[in-house]
Amino acid sequence: MRSARPACAIRLSSSLACLALWGCGADVTSGSTSASVSASASATSAAEVSSSASTERSASPSQRRADLELTPDAFLARGPATLVLGTLGDDRADRDMRAQAEVLRSALPGATVIDDASIDVAGGVAAWPKNPILFGGAHVNRVVAALAPVLPLSADETRIEIGGARIDAPGSRIVAIVPARAADPAHPGHPTLLLYAGLGTPGITEINGGMRHGGEPILIGDSFGRLRTGVWSAAPDGGLRAALGEPARRDTWRRSSRDVAGVAMTIAFPSGLEATPDDERVVDAVGRGLASSAKRLALTAPPPLTVYVYPNREAKKALTGDGGDGHAMVIGRTLHVRRADAAPGGGLERLVAHEGTHVFAAEAWGGTGSALMGEGLAVWVSGAYQGKPLSEWAKTLTPRPPIASLLPLRAFRARPEAETYPLGGLLVTAAVARVGLENVRDHLYSAGAEDWAAACVRAGTSAEQLDHDLAAMK
Ligand SMILES: [Zn+2]
Repeated sequence: MRSARPACAIRLSSSLACLALWGCGADVTSGSTSASVSASASATSAAEVSSSASTERSASPSQRRADLELTPDAFLARGPATLVLGTLGDDRADRDMRAQAEVLRSALPGATVIDDASIDVAGGVAAWPKNPILFGGAHVNRVVAALAPVLPLSADETRIEIGGARIDAPGSRIVAIVPARAADPAHPGHPTLLLYAGLGTPGITEINGGMRHGGEPILIGDSFGRLRTGVWSAAPDGGLRAALGEPARRDTWRRSSRDVAGVAMTIAFPSGLEATPDDERVVDAVGRGLASSAKRLALTAPPPLTVYVYPNREAKKALTGDGGDGHAMVIGRTLHVRRADAAPGGGLERLVAHEGTHVFAAEAWGGTGSALMGEGLAVWVSGAYQGKPLSEWAKTLTPRPPIASLLPLRAFRARPEAETYPLGGLLVTAAVARVGLENVRDHLYSAGAEDWAAACVRAGTSAEQLDHDLAAMK
């Protein structure tokens, strides 16, 4: 369950579960050589974990204990997962669900995707697929809604409640193992499951963004990242009790709002730091980055977003858990960036253009079906990677494998980011030239590995043509 983070200038989350859901954090400086290892090494082995089906009627005390301590990483190690999509939202929510699930499916060997109508909760454990991962709260997932009377937590569009806490700040989400529950005269049982749910609809797009997870049975995040962790214990009545740890530190901020080229942005500096004459240059650079992203994506009504500016990486790491130069939180419409060169066309402007693209595209276009297209779009918008223009990468970047071979998340992650990110940028450049931005938006951006060839045809081209165009760029 380890996954080494390759040396790179754009940082991705490093645990398997993070890998599975993929989220971007970008560094503006080149040559970062961090190679951290997943913190999930303590994952329980599959052999130690009881099968979920056996826990409904006759869980032994040791099985029950193992179930209570199960982490998402250990859950994913038990065998092929079944991704259960919520379908109670509108068409847009359904599309976003499918796109996010496709990214996860492409990272998990043998994983399958079903929708929430496929499980008859009243049928008890026998009605469930193996290793179910539920996407979305009760407002979008009918399985979560049907389980509501017996779940030891609740999650919907506006709040999460667990362990006596009510969490309703924008950007809040939960990743939790819910241990199996035995049937009783009033309610059917259910197997152990993994739940991803966030506020908003559908609330799961890039749900792991900026939030390492997988090592704790319960993790709650907000717009800054990891907020609280928790564990399960058996309650005296035979049910489950969640014990939550102390919330992470959250500072206060000096906020100001302004409208920049149609983008309603709120920019925030730590209140503990005196305002400096340079702040205005920083605000201008952030505004230029957002405005250029909105313009490049041809957005007529870009969503509002909040940009938190940290004095340095250390401060950003302390307050968000992410020590990269920048990262985006799609849920909560938030960017976190450290101060960098605020000159026109400088590092800060490019960083904000890249990260802002993740939020803008997720809001205006929907979820992406591959990290290659998600990052490719952000690199294309910012026009550069590691400070080097895409036109320079086009002269030097080889090899250029078939696009379809890079779409599965595992394949994307297996190559250095200094290949995949600029390759993605060149791919978007080639695709926009071939079929136009609207077709990229409507067909290619949300396509996953399995759907790529058909999506290319829908976009008015073919996978072979785009491979050829990409190979011919120089
Ligand atoms: Zn990115």
